[in-house]
Amino acid sequence: MLELSGKAAVVTGGSRGIGRAIAVTLAGLGAKVAVNYTSNSKAAQETVEQITGSGGSAAAIAADVTDAGQAKALIETAKKRLGSVDILVNCAGITRDGLLVRMKDEDWDEVLQTNLTGVFNCTRAAASVMMKKRWGRIVNISSVVGLYGNAGQANYCASKAGVIGFTKAVAKELGSRGITVNAIAPGFIQTDMTMKLSEGLREEMTKRVVLGRPGTPEDVAWLAAFLSSDLASYITGQIIGVDGGIVM
Ligand code: NAD
Repeated sequence: MLELSGKAAVVTGGSRGIGRAIAVTLAGLGAKVAVNYTSNSKAAQETVEQITGSGGSAAAIAADVTDAGQAKALIETAKKRLGSVDILVNCAGITRDGLLVRMKDEDWDEVLQTNLTGVFNCTRAAASVMMKKRWGRIVNISSVVGLYGNAGQANYCASKAGVIGFTKAVAKELGSRGITVNAIAPGFIQTDMTMKLSEGLREEMTKRVVLGRPGTPEDVAWLAAFLSSDLASYITGQIIGVDGGIVM
């Protein structure tokens, strides 16, 4: 049975989109959840209310994952408020799209800092808590474009490919401590991030999906829940697609 009672989870970028669906799904399976957000406390509070309204347990915790000190404080606060940190889902991410020759330094830096350094900051902080318990689950949200690239997203693709290498290295380091580390590579998922794209581009992307529809945040959340559970105890260092068949 897929269930997470007795576990405490931190979901970065948990206030909306895929992160919110993951937070709600983990809580629905019995985990206590720390919903991390940067500035949108209203959205984070809505996620918390969605969880507590269905009888779950959750707390909103503000932290900017690009800042190592704030990431450490996020894990420490979650440990104090939830009693432990057994599961970390690194979901916070941004895009700053543009063609390479016109890409601004700050667009490169911000994307790498959020999508890759943010994963490093939170994972390092959580790993030391999990190592003491000799049990842990780390789930990183990468992307299909980290595998196959995408014109206009050199910064984003580099960050998501970086997450894949990071996932494998850390899986090798932490395996002997009972901690698994995996990455999910979502394809085209309907969230605020993809609603920013033009309708034409969204139609174009949907055409590439073998299953003929964009994914939902819940499609990603169920895999995150499985990878966070005891049922996935023999799976580590894997990059698993939730993409309707875009990459095969
Ligand atoms: P979204 O924009 O709806 O959510 C991203 C979340 O990350 C937001 O809650 C935002 O506040 C948070 N965030 C951004 N910077 C942060 C920071 N410095 N510290 C803490 N939180 C921060 O996007 P989404 O589509 O739900 O994306 C979630 C993850 O899934 C991202 O890592 C994204 O790259 C990845 N992803 C999305 C898709 C897609 O099609 N939507 C596809 C592949 C991968």
